[in-house]
Amino acid sequence: MSTVDTVRGPVPLDQLGQTLIHEHLIMISAEFEKFYPEFAWSLPREEVVDKVVTALQEVRDRGITTILDCTAFFHGRDMDFVKEVNDRVDMNVIVSSGIYTFDYLPYHLSYRKGDPVEKDMLTRMFVRDITIGVGDSEVKAQSIKVATDREGITENIERILRAAACASGQTGVPITVHTHPADKLGPQIQKIFAEYGADLTKVVVGHSGDSSDLDYLRSLMDAGSMAGFDRMGLYMAGTASMDERLDTIATLCGEGYADRIGLSHDAVLYSDWGPPGVAAKRFPTWVPTHVSDVILPALRERGVTDADIDTMTVSAPAALFDGIHR
Ligand SMILES: [Zn+2]
Repeated sequence: MSTVDTVRGPVPLDQLGQTLIHEHLIMISAEFEKFYPEFAWSLPREEVVDKVVTALQEVRDRGITTILDCTAFFHGRDMDFVKEVNDRVDMNVIVSSGIYTFDYLPYHLSYRKGDPVEKDMLTRMFVRDITIGVGDSEVKAQSIKVATDREGITENIERILRAAACASGQTGVPITVHTHPADKLGPQIQKIFAEYGADLTKVVVGHSGDSSDLDYLRSLMDAGSMAGFDRMGLYMAGTASMDERLDTIATLCGEGYADRIGLSHDAVLYSDWGPPGVAAKRFPTWVPTHVSDVILPALRERGVTDADIDTMTVSAPAALFDGIHR
């Protein structure tokens, strides 16, 4: 049986159980934290740890036993914090490599392109996280997170997508790509991934559920990838409402796509991005228990079978980690 490395060590795939495919325990910039700690921490660090432990325990109490944390480089990874939280909550936490930017790269990356793609600094960073571990944490990343947004596939983004595909091909870990579905760039992203060595069945086209365009969603899944319905609870203006998302998922399950659908919230349990409480006020449903408490019961009401719910929450997420090279 294949295993996946988690913060607390390797876990057999058939023991992962109910899995959320895209969450964030913490996003805190290392430089911000180092030089401006009073701005980075809105509460004393120990209190933040306590709060995140409580929030994660509430998720665990719903029967969720695994979380894929999609926090990448530039996104504010803090492995000490993640380990401390995971010590107190009995859950499998899988962490990510990758880079989170919609275009910009700092000089230490823009001047170190490397050619061919195997030698690119980005590829080497991703492979390092996966084969050696993130920093000195001794925790191996088992996923690569990259992003495209309104800026489109710029030169820098294309470089990043190629590096992610190359590192994924070398190591067998899945890729999650943040997308802006209104621009329908999924197929173009898939094309780059496939060309540079990624297996499209190990790709999650993130935030696809913001769209209700069934033809677009089917095209991503027909190419083998998982469509991320991974912002459940975060119903931003201009994106699909909760009811639209539920209808879309129910329709796709009826068509046999359950094994290509991933559910999650993209919840962020602590972030230095803004004053605390603002996002919670704006999006009261954006909590990491929303899938368990609201979405799964509502899908059952729409006729989605327990078998399909099991596929979306247990077997499809586990399959993403099948075949990681050891
Ligand atoms: Zn995210």
